[in-house]
Amino acid sequence: MLSVTFCGATRTVTGSQYFLEYTAPDGSKFNFCLDSGMFQVGQKINLYKLNSYMVFDPKKLDCIVLTHAHLDHCGRIPYLVKMGFGGKIYSTEATRQIAEVVMRDSARHNSDGYLSQDFAGIIDSKIVQEADQTTETVFPALYTDVEVDTTMGRFKTFEYKQKFTIHPNLQVEFRDAGHILGSAFVIFTELSSGKQVVFSGDLGNEHKPIIEDPEMPATPPGLTHIFTETTYGNRTHPKVDTKQHLREIAKKTLRRGGKLIIPSFSVERAQEVIYYLVELMREGKIDQVPIFLDSPMASKVLEICLQHPELYDEEIRQKIAEHANPLIYKNLKILETTHESKTINSNNKPCILIAGSGMLNGGRILKHLQFHLDNPLNTLLFVGYQAEGTLGRKILEGAEEVEIEGRMIEVLAQLESMNEFSAHADRRILKNWVLSLMSDLPEEKAPTVFLMHGEKEASLAFGKELEDSFLSRIKTYWPRFAERVVMWE
Ligand SMILES: [Zn+2]
Repeated sequence: MLSVTFCGATRTVTGSQYFLEYTAPDGSKFNFCLDSGMFQVGQKINLYKLNSYMVFDPKKLDCIVLTHAHLDHCGRIPYLVKMGFGGKIYSTEATRQIAEVVMRDSARHNSDGYLSQDFAGIIDSKIVQEADQTTETVFPALYTDVEVDTTMGRFKTFEYKQKFTIHPNLQVEFRDAGHILGSAFVIFTELSSGKQVVFSGDLGNEHKPIIEDPEMPATPPGLTHIFTETTYGNRTHPKVDTKQHLREIAKKTLRRGGKLIIPSFSVERAQEVIYYLVELMREGKIDQVPIFLDSPMASKVLEICLQHPELYDEEIRQKIAEHANPLIYKNLKILETTHESKTINSNNKPCILIAGSGMLNGGRILKHLQFHLDNPLNTLLFVGYQAEGTLGRKILEGAEEVEIEGRMIEVLAQLESMNEFSAHADRRILKNWVLSLMSDLPEEKAPTVFLMHGEKEASLAFGKELEDSFLSRIKTYWPRFAERVVMWE
């Protein structure tokens, strides 16, 4: 018997967590989770309640299988540890390394990045309950570095296509999901019966720099259920020459003597932007200026990227063979301390500056904007989604003046945005992936596809597209939060 309880990413895009209960033919029981991520969309206090709410008893959890290191997939693992989870965590090595960076950052902040661990310590649960009445109040971090330390000691890592067992009768295999470094989709096999279940995790976009495209897998012969993300289940990514677009923006800004300021997410996005900028400079297509990376988190992830050339795609391998790794360059300066961070604001020379946070709701970027946002020579370039309520969104929507750390700053810099950086597959790639899983399945077999990790419109549109394409050969299901479904009797 295998059942799943949906503990997150149901009808929303964050909080991925599936609780699976397995009973082996010999009657032994085994409980495991596929991912345990944080909810990141919603009002602050409700997020705290959601993230600390456990659908199952963590003490009864035997292990966690982790697809990738984004906070909405790994962020609640140290909390499970804090609440009594004592088992192992299985992932790829790159996922383990990046997850540590992400979880330690999470331990220092709440999911909005406003709250320090020190401050969190003085808030007790009674205050949290009172705070429930308002969305303006701070709330505690879910865990500290102590729980992250314990969590890190529990990891056991495997390579793509290296089969391993989490229970004598349950085999697991990671395959390249092409989403971020180390990301995997997961194939579970019950060894005695041959039955198989596949979880997509997050699937990547095609033709991204650095990592491989998502693997289109051969049909698992015992396939009964597919769990697929549907973030862009109703969208087709525009075909844009990203490097050329970045070149135009950078060239214009540097030629007029301005600074190009790029707020960026730390995992994957910052490294992709660096990749293109270094390429452009090496090829002489933009001026030779310093590229400052002022994000300790992004710098750590860059370092991890450099440690895993075995995960690179053909393009970057080729460049390395030609001694031109786009992640290493003389003009790329990593700023370690806040002192170094401050020194770059004392000159007015053209440069490129990459700093977090990606939506301007915290991080070192706020210091830089106080110096540079009111200068029309500069460009503020958005390379990621700006959620409602963030400073990034306010600026993008045309605010003439904004408050940053208590100071009013005029928005005079040029504004640009590049929407083509997407770490997620669009509907075509998602469909091809399902098609690939189904291609050699006998006619009479009709697997169930769970539509996960998407807003209502995206999930339902993708479900309809699948059912239309496969006629009766597929059943789709759109689960609710905390719902339990028996997959194998
Ligand atoms: Zn992800």
